[in-house]
Amino acid sequence: MLVRFLDLRVTDSKEHSELLQAIGKVLSHGRIMLGPEVEELEGKVAAYCGRKYSVGMSSGTESLFLALKSLGIRHGDEVITTPLSFVASANAIVRTGASPVFADIREDLNIDPEAVRSLITAKTKAILPVHWTGKICEMTELTEIASKHELFLIEDASQAFGAKYHGKSAGGLGVLGCFSLNSMKVFAALGEAGIITTDSLELKEKLLSLRYNGLVGREACHEVGINGKIDTLQAAVLLYRLQSLEKNIQRRRDISEIYRKQLSEVVETPLEQAGCRDTYYTYTIRAENRDQLKLHLEQNGIETKIQHKPLIHHQPYYEGKYYAQCPLAEKLFEQVLCLPIHEKLTDEEVAYVISKVRGFYKRH
Ligand SMILES: *Cc1c(COP(=O)(O)O)cnc(C)c1O
Repeated sequence: MLVRFLDLRVTDSKEHSELLQAIGKVLSHGRIMLGPEVEELEGKVAAYCGRKYSVGMSSGTESLFLALKSLGIRHGDEVITTPLSFVASANAIVRTGASPVFADIREDLNIDPEAVRSLITAKTKAILPVHWTGKICEMTELTEIASKHELFLIEDASQAFGAKYHGKSAGGLGVLGCFSLNSMKVFAALGEAGIITTDSLELKEKLLSLRYNGLVGREACHEVGINGKIDTLQAAVLLYRLQSLEKNIQRRRDISEIYRKQLSEVVETPLEQAGCRDTYYTYTIRAENRDQLKLHLEQNGIETKIQHKPLIHHQPYYEGKYYAQCPLAEKLFEQVLCLPIHEKLTDEEVAYVISKVRGFYKRH
């Protein structure tokens, strides 16, 4: 049996033809750049996240960069973030000219508010938590810290579209919420896309301009921006896929529940906090003999990943350049392994993964 980590094919024939129809509509109206689907998507995503506005972007990477830029983060500033993320989170900070400061994580793999508190200096301007694996960070404490020290709190919610935290949604908890909507994410375009959520009209206007080379009214350049606009075609795909989002999140949560019941005896399985809904972008376990387990699963046709290797402060560009004190991250990262959890997995495949993980620990 081959169990893929991800399967980006569109195998369902109804979905296949309905996607082609959605794309066909755009081909017919011809408003390929910033067409009506963009605003429709922006309205629906804002409502979904409990926000007033959202701004469609070309990727999660550019969303993070422009979010920081729209808040005036620049050279000389410090932004506190996590070492356990895709490198785009820290790259966004570096691109503004500011310095990332890497805070340690907790057992749940998300940034530790206490570590954040201890790293605040006169230069600190913002905190950039990442809702890792689709689990929302300890936002109550982070919000308190941010308001006490007058820092911007910006969510990297790239992995957490649809995640809930005590009645609020991912993207609804910071001054700005940034999402990647690329093909690998739970809410996914057919290629690259991103979106930023906010309640601030001023920031929304600023982001609309920054994603369009800093133009206001499509003519006058008031600030140097980028070309960060979302494609109408991707917006059309996303509008279609928004309809099946809840079903897909539920399927991931069902699989996570089966994994938890059958694997928690042999490995550390993720815990969900009461009052929260995790979306399981990845199902990240912590395992003894992680590398041998990974090899064993590979030999049995099961694709797994270690996301994201290495920790950001150990990336060649970052090593030794920025402040990082992350002993728990270093330790936990030696144990993490992401098992397949995408919504196309069959019950048989899930059972197969479980039997191979359990089999490994029986032998050891
Ligand atoms: C995917 C991802 C990004 C980058 O998003 P792109 O759309 O690929 O640019 C940033 N941060 C995190 C946590 C991600 O998972």
